[in-house]
Parts: sequence; C-alpha cells; structure tokens
Amino acid sequence: MAQAPSASFDTREEVDFVVVGSGAAGGIMAKELASAGHSVVILEQGPHLQAPDFKHDEWGYNHNNDLVWSTRHGNRQTFRRNENEEAELQESVLGYAHNVGGSSVHFSGNFWRFRPIDFMEASVRGTIAGTNFADWPITYEDLEPYYTKVDWEIGVSGLQGPWDPPRSREYPCPPMPIKGSDVLLERAAKQLGLNPYPAPVAILSQPHNGRPGCIHCGFCNGYGCEVNAKSSSMVTMIPLALATGTCELRTMCTVSQLNTDEAGRVTEVVYFDGTGAEQAQRARAVVLCANGAETPRLLLMSANSLFPDGLANSSGFVGQNLMFNGYSSVAGIFDEPVNAWKSVPATRVVHDFYELDESLGFYGGGGIDGRHPSAGTPLEFALIAPEFFGTPSWGAEFKDNLANQFSHCAAFDGHSTSLPLPTNNVTLDPNYQDDFGRPAIRCTYMDHPDDLATMEWFRDKTIELMEAAGASNINGSYPETGQTGNVHLLGTCRMGDDPNSSVINSDHRAHDVSNLFMCDGSSLVTSGRGQPTMTIMALAFRAADRINQLAQANEI
Ligand SMILES: Cc1cc2nc3c(=O)[nH]c(=O)nc-3n(C[C@H](O)[C@H](O)[C@H](O)COP(=O)(O)OP(=O)(O)OC[C@H]3O[C@@H](n4cnc5c(N)ncnc54)[C@H](O)[C@@H]3O)c2cc1C
Repeated sequence: MAQAPSASFDTREEVDFVVVGSGAAGGIMAKELASAGHSVVILEQGPHLQAPDFKHDEWGYNHNNDLVWSTRHGNRQTFRRNENEEAELQESVLGYAHNVGGSSVHFSGNFWRFRPIDFMEASVRGTIAGTNFADWPITYEDLEPYYTKVDWEIGVSGLQGPWDPPRSREYPCPPMPIKGSDVLLERAAKQLGLNPYPAPVAILSQPHNGRPGCIHCGFCNGYGCEVNAKSSSMVTMIPLALATGTCELRTMCTVSQLNTDEAGRVTEVVYFDGTGAEQAQRARAVVLCANGAETPRLLLMSANSLFPDGLANSSGFVGQNLMFNGYSSVAGIFDEPVNAWKSVPATRVVHDFYELDESLGFYGGGGIDGRHPSAGTPLEFALIAPEFFGTPSWGAEFKDNLANQFSHCAAFDGHSTSLPLPTNNVTLDPNYQDDFGRPAIRCTYMDHPDDLATMEWFRDKTIELMEAAGASNINGSYPETGQTGNVHLLGTCRMGDDPNSSVINSDHRAHDVSNLFMCDGSSLVTSGRGQPTMTIMALAFRAADRINQLAQANEI
C-alpha cells in the first residue's frame, strides 16, 4: 500500500489532539478525530511496517520477539503473585506488538462481540465478595451501532449464530470456510446437544474495502498478514487518518510523561524520539491508547505535585483491576489428517456456556473454539508435541511422530472470564527500569478461585468434546497455579460513573483531568469471555464520537 501524505506539526504548535499509541483503539481514535477536522499527532513507539515486511519467520517472531515489545528490546517487566512477594524480571504483559497498528497487526483475529449480560452482570448475578465486579455505565444497546461500524469499516467475516446478541446489520463478509478439524468439533458439539457456529474473525473471507480475502496460509497468531487480509488498524484506519491531511504519524516516539498546568489540565506530552532525544508535543487534549499495561504506566509516571499518586488517580484505581481472561486447552490426535494448521486460527465456536449455571457454586462463563495446538506453526509444534502427547522427544520415533501428528492433531480451547480484583494490577517497579530510564512495568496477578474453577470446568468440557470427536492421546491443561502473564490487558483505567471507583467516565474522559481521555483495553469494566478486541475497537469508535461532540460543543 502506498504511503499516504501526512501532516507535519511543530512540537511547539498546540495541536488539537495527541493520540498516544496507534493500536487497535488508537488507530480508530486518530482516524475519527482527524476525519472530524481536528489536527492530530499520533505518537507511536514502534515502526510503521507494511505487508511486505512480514515473514513466516517462526524463530524471529516466536523466540526473538521481532514484532513485540519485550525485555529483549530493553523493555523490562517484572511479575509477582501478590504484594508480599519481591517481583522478579519476567515477561508478564505478554507479547504486545510495538508497531503501527499495535497488537491488531499480529493478533489472531478472533472477534467476539460482548453480549448484553456483560454490561450488567453484577446487577443480574449479584456482587462477588472481595472483588470489584461491577456494571458498566453503558449498555450493549449503546455500543451496538459501533460494533456494526467495526464490522463494516474494519472488515469482519461471520454469520449470526444462535447465541449472538442482536445486530443491526449483517456481517460484511461471509464466514471462513470450515477447517477439517472444526468439522470434528462441530460434529462432537452437536452430539453433546450444543450449538456450534461459524467463528467471527477480523480477517476477510472475500475482498472488502479494497483489500483482498485471506489466502489461508495459517500464519495469523503472532504474525503480520502478508496480503493485508487481517483487519488491523494499520491497514484499515491509519491510511484513512493520514489521508485527511490533518494527522501526523510520528513513529519510534516513546512517550514518558504527560505534563499539566497549575489548573490541572494536560499541556504537553513528553517523549523520546527515534534518536533518544527528549521532545514535548503541545496539545489541547490528549487521548491515551497505549494499551492496558502502558496507559496506566504513563499515568503513574506522570505524578506531580498536583497529582502525587499519578495523573487521574484520585480513586487509586489507575493500574488496578487488571484482567487477563482465563484459558484452557485440550489437544488430541486423529486417525486421519485434519489439517488444523490451515487457514485462520478458528472457524467454529461453541457459545452455549457463556454463563455457567450458578448451581456449580462459582461465577464464570466462556466460549470454546477449535485450533491447532501450536497455533499452526511447525517449529513450535516440534517443541511442544512430545510433552503434549507423551511421545519421545528425540530420535527416529520423534521425527516420525512429528510428520504424522502435525497434520493429525487438533486443540479445543476454552476462553473465559476473569474477575476484577483489587489485588491484580500494573504498578511501577521500584527496582528495574527500561533503557529510557522509565520504571519497569510490575505486574501483580493471581487468578480468583472462581476463575480457576471456570478454567478447570472448560478444560473438562473440552476433554468431553475431544472424546466425542474420536481423538486419542488426549491431553488437557489450564494454568492450575494461576496465570503469570497474558496477551489480554484489561480493566486498569476502568470506566464508571463514580469517580471514587473508576478512572474515566462513560465518555472516556478522566474524572480528574478534563482534557485527558483513555481509550484501550484499560477502559473495560469486566473481561467478557476472551477475545476483547472487537469491544475495544467498538469503544474507540464510540469514544471518538463522544469526544468529537464535546469538542464541537467547546466542552473540552
Ligand atoms: C499474539 C496475540 C494474539 C491475540 N489474539 C487475539 C484474538 O484472537 N482476539 C482478540 O480479541 N484479542 C487478541 N489479542 C489481544 C489484542 O491484540 C489486544 O486486545 C488489542 O490489540 C489491544 O488493543 P489496545 O488498543 O488496547 O492496545 P494495542 O493494540 O496493544 O496498542 C497499543 C499501542 O500503543 C503503543 N504504545 C504503548 N506505549 C507507548 C508509549 N509509551 N509511547 C508510544 N506508543 C506506545 C504500542 O506500541 C501499540 O502500538 C491477541 C494479542 C496477541 C499479542
């Protein structure tokens, strides 16, 4: 795709908006604000890659972290299970992509809408002691038009399923063709009386908005799409933002702090440019879209005499309530080739267990989809297969097994709820810094017992499905001792009406700072059942609408 013309602003010139981060939410935010005529500077810490830059390079992407922002790039992170432990160097806010488009570039593209219940579950289900489980200040109906906007502007493939929430318009693209392995999932699920249906994905099944359909190469999870069929904000939103002529994309610019004036309004965004030199861009308003780990980090790093506990943190909720989503996985081997590695990660889902029965004695719910145990990549498979299937890890038998098992295996995965807990959070590590001298992200996390019970329930249910599908060598797991990291980073600047228990209001405006907005995974109040990015993107379209209205009314 040809590089679009871009605006260019002087750092001392006060632009209407600085958007920090160009990921799933940031790309949409920048496009919508610039399309309304505002001057916008996007500050993105990574490079602007294009489809020809992406490779099927398992070693580079899975082991050298070529696409992701990790310790290897000087971005140290630490982890501990609770505040009494000393946090140790460990990747915990896993694998988010540091490039234009953020993780929408290398994500898997599974794209579930939340359902009406997700927004009001605390009222319906009741509060849960020791958690910050709460209703959202908005409803599914408030967000539905924006889900539909995501469907059509980003490009989503699917077919309305029996459990899907109501939609105002059909999917723009038909579902992906079913994979052999998912034929087996579908058959097994029907045998158990369930209702499997085509998985919605943010990957084009046919040409849409000038982009081509998927070529089914199988390299989605962790990889950038080489033909632009994956609907990242990099290929869908950023070109439109730049084409407005009022938006400048500044890459390799790592934000370190937001400065405020004596009235407590943000005046400028401080960042390190590609040469490492410190710069500051003046702005009338700022929207943080840096993700559920980096947005709270920036607010905490921006503490000053007016905001001693961090910017916008009078509630103490900045960085708190971190939610990962739970997961489980069951793999098995079939007599015939099922070729789960082909095409997009999942072509069928089972959503009959979105809300588990309360009689089980714990809160939870989730969805099940069919995948390849190693996300379809051969090198990873060779590393995990012996442990998964209890087969030799060296020698001729190992080689023979690999040749057979890679195409004959499938996984059925559970994706489930995480409760918002006051003890799970992102804070600044007092002992470690990144290469810019910024305090490292310290992640404190331990799954709630109900979340562990839910993961175990899904592990057991998917074993049942795998048995019904006729697999052998069945092996199931979930993180029994608690998760130590995840790619879903949710809830750390939650939305709410009460400034004492939330960071932003339903317009995504910080309760404490009138010209500061946060919009990304951090805005979520509850976790959904996995696959949060459809909701993150819908929230971004809605937030941009609200911000444009506020700006027009001169209320920022
Ligand atoms: C391998 C993988 C697979 C996934 N699969 C799925 C899936 O199938 N379905 C699903 O729903 N979700 C999936 N996810 C999660 C999904 O990618 C995220 O939920 C989503 O991208 C989050 O959007 P965001 O806007 O909050 O942040 P991001 O998309 O992470 O964007 C944040 C951006 O901000 C930039 N940034 C951060 N800090 C700074 C700073 N200080 N200065 C300047 N720029 C900064 C980053 O470089 C990045 O570009 C997956 C994630 C990964 C890693």
